[in-house]
Amino acid sequence: QKLGFAIVGLGKFAQQQMMPAFKECKHARITALVSGSPDKARKLAREYGVEEKNVYSYDNFDSIKDNPAVDVVYIVLPPGLHTEYTIRAAKAGKHVLCEKPMATSVADCQKMIEACEKAGKKLMIAYRAQFEPFNLDAIARIKKGELGKLRQITADHGRSVKPTEEPAEAWRVQKKLAGGGSLMDIGIYSLNATRYLTGEEPVEVTAQEFSDKSDPRFKEVEDTIHFTLRFPSGVLASCTSSYSIQEVKRFRAFGDKAWLDLDPATDYYEHHMTIGDKDGKRQPKIKEGNQFAAELDHMAECVLQNKTPKTPGEEGLKDIRLVMAIYEAARTGKRVKV
Ligand code: NAD
Repeated sequence: QKLGFAIVGLGKFAQQQMMPAFKECKHARITALVSGSPDKARKLAREYGVEEKNVYSYDNFDSIKDNPAVDVVYIVLPPGLHTEYTIRAAKAGKHVLCEKPMATSVADCQKMIEACEKAGKKLMIAYRAQFEPFNLDAIARIKKGELGKLRQITADHGRSVKPTEEPAEAWRVQKKLAGGGSLMDIGIYSLNATRYLTGEEPVEVTAQEFSDKSDPRFKEVEDTIHFTLRFPSGVLASCTSSYSIQEVKRFRAFGDKAWLDLDPATDYYEHHMTIGDKDGKRQPKIKEGNQFAAELDHMAECVLQNKTPKTPGEEGLKDIRLVMAIYEAARTGKRVKV
């Protein structure tokens, strides 16, 4: 059985990664499109076999409530619009899959959770790395004790943001739409990884930020932010996030017996694991898998089997709470308890 998904926002990520992934799904298919560009939507509707009557604009989106072909609304808009569209989808009686970061404030995350609870609908945040085979393998090895006692984690996410060259980057430097800079967009992968690798919630954060305010890209949002997280077991995580460096998406977990490195850790395809111990380094063979299709199928299975998603709204809220604590620590120079 395949559930019908409506894609809201037909931008770069939706078109290049997520829509093609539906072809590999067992339980999910695209049945509706929501866009502000009728020509683009019609063209994609033809390409994906979506009936023309199931193409919506942002204005008539609420009438999706009358469309039984749509079970799940998948929101792929800039973060500043996630709350509005999640609430509208829940009110239309649809389940919601929403892109990361969940929203631009803790209060907005709570409103999204409440709206879906009230409507009796599922809410899942699209943390694709938690469905990616190399990341799942890393989690399993740490859990099994392959690294010995876990002591520390380092995680780095960075790239060069180009708002004047790339249409998909323009909103990324606008506070209202992005909520923040590199931390909200990509540093969140470092943050989320420290939580799924330890299986714990941090209790304290420290942070430092640097943004060149003469660079027009960083008038509203931060460029580089370094943060540390202290976990209850004593694990310390040291993370970096930047919008002005060559692309990096990696982490390394250090135990008292071995370390495990994923570089890249959170790319779309082609991950790479190295494990180092007293006998040297090795690269375990792990089969690549389509994390996008796995994420979409998980959402559909949760609806079909009435299960709570692995990455529900509460998971997105936890990260946004921590993001806000990191910003506070960077602003005040003080340790922030969470
Ligand atoms: P994008 O700019 O290419 O797509 C955003 C879409 O929203 C565009 O089609 C745009 O026209 C539409 N839109 C509607 N109203 C808008 C408004 N007022 N201002 C700006 N755009 C508006 O960006 P993207 O890279 O595709 O990102 C979309 C979402 O997906 C974001 O939440 C982003 O964080 C997330 N994302 C997730 C991943 C991932 O790996 N999970 C990767 C990239 C992006």
